[in-house]
Amino acid sequence: MLSGPIKTKVIGKVYKEQMYKKDKWILPRISPKCENCNNNEYYTITCSTVTCIILSSLIKGDKVYKIICPTCGETIELEFDEYLTIEPLIKINKKYEEGKIRKIQYDRSVDDILSKIKII
Ligand SMILES: [Zn+2]
Repeated sequence: MLSGPIKTKVIGKVYKEQMYKKDKWILPRISPKCENCNNNEYYTITCSTVTCIILSSLIKGDKVYKIICPTCGETIELEFDEYLTIEPLIKINKKYEEGKIRKIQYDRSVDDILSKIKII
């Protein structure tokens, strides 16, 4: 089995202030502020897919999620559980940025998402 090309795409953002449930930071393994530059207001999330080549057919392999500081590029690989925790926030932020929902719906959705998050 050969590893083929790795495709990476940006799937969205999570903002620092929306990642607290009450006073608790929802991703305990990752620092609220970038450990390298301490200068970010949000993180960018990317997904990389490794394509494997088996007997000349292409098979899409594992997805790897990463959290990236937009200021200095510091990158940390997310555990899948960590990604699942923040996935609803990434989606709602994207919808809001694309103008698909209004601010009032956005705020309500973020509150709703946070109320359902279990801190790992
Ligand atoms: Zn940084």
